[in-house]
Amino acid sequence: MPWKIKCTKCGRESLLMVGYDIRDFKKLYLYCENCKENTFHEILGYVEEVKVE
Ligand SMILES: [Zn+2]
Repeated sequence: MPWKIKCTKCGRESLLMVGYDIRDFKKLYLYCENCKENTFHEILGYVEEVKVE
């Protein structure tokens, strides 16, 4: 399921595909393509529908 996450450093929003519920996580430490380093990401919520182009 896709989750919408946001980098707390640069504010870039991205999608994270994980097969489990991450709602209980307050922050995720992940690589940000914009910052080019690992940063904390805020979990904005579960994405119900994703448009694939
Ligand atoms: Zn960032």
